[in-house]
Amino acid sequence: MDPLLTLAIAAVAAPTVVTLGYVGLCWIAPFKTCKRCAGTGHTTTPILRRPRACRRCHRGMRLRTGRRVFNHFHRLRAEATR
Ligand SMILES: [Zn+2]
Repeated sequence: MDPLLTLAIAAVAAPTVVTLGYVGLCWIAPFKTCKRCAGTGHTTTPILRRPRACRRCHRGMRLRTGRRVFNHFHRLRAEATR
């Protein structure tokens, strides 16, 4: 086997496996724990440390970036073909 071909296959296979793994993760578990509030769903104000609802998530869970991108293009396609 040609060593250049082996190198090319290795260079293409690794990013493909990572990408397909992330796509599978976005399909199986589209939500992840919010880093801002650590999954609690509320943060504290900087001055009085008063609890307040987290503005970045809904009850401590956020939509993954890949799933958000998928939903955007899915809605775009649905609106275009309507
Ligand atoms: Zn949050």
